[in-house]
Amino acid sequence: MFIDSHCHINFPELAARMPEILAKMADNKVTHALCVSVDLPDFPQVLALAKEYPHIYASVGVHPDYEDTPEPSVEQLVELSNDPKIIAIGETGLDYFRLQGDLEWQRERFRTHIKASRITRKPLIIHTRAASEDTIRIMREEGAGTEAGGVAGVMHCFTESLEVARAAIDMGFYISFSGIVTFKSAKDLQAVALEVPLERILIETDSPYLAPMPHRGKMNEPGFVAHVGEYIAKLKGIPVEQVAEQTSANFFKLFNLVA
Ligand SMILES: [Zn+2]
Ligand SMILES: [Zn+2]
Repeated sequence: MFIDSHCHINFPELAARMPEILAKMADNKVTHALCVSVDLPDFPQVLALAKEYPHIYASVGVHPDYEDTPEPSVEQLVELSNDPKIIAIGETGLDYFRLQGDLEWQRERFRTHIKASRITRKPLIIHTRAASEDTIRIMREEGAGTEAGGVAGVMHCFTESLEVARAAIDMGFYISFSGIVTFKSAKDLQAVALEVPLERILIETDSPYLAPMPHRGKMNEPGFVAHVGEYIAKLKGIPVEQVAEQTSANFFKLFNLVA
């Protein structure tokens, strides 16, 4: 069994094809998926999906790339996360690649999510792009991670260095690899994945984006997470069943779920 730890199946291009998407998950032995919230206006749809399907979970948060969107308060995030199907806070984090200029608002929004995670004890889903130094600094300042008395979380769609991976792992975090790791051009990331212990790895699609090989360039969907798992098994030279089992166990452990 595989678990897609990060997807956006509430986006219209995927939500319109739910029966097909669920069938593909079953075909590829993908047993669960976490539908990740990106803004407050879409949150009711995300929650509705998780309520409708027993093996779909959800999160609440506002993505760092969404500039013109209602700003969440700590209280709001805490309140909206008060449902057993909401298992995480995010996605949140910093993105200095997609947006430039004065991004103090992005850092403030990130701090808000970490505070909500500490209050709710629900793990963080962190998006970081071209901003790893500030990401790790703010995580430390706000007490993210198990060391600081916060809760752990996941660095999703990881594309940073081994050094950043190690800093996150030291704080109790998991590293999630997407289809990017399967791309021929991703040699540096493959070297990182080889070093990250399997006990700290999650796998994801980030669908509808970033379809893994051999579907690169097509619309992605949770069923394709199996290709990410297969690739990591090949990279590490271990049986695919071991990757499937361990990454699924990691998911249940991080999000405090009973398998
Ligand atoms: Zn992201
Ligand atoms: Zn995402």
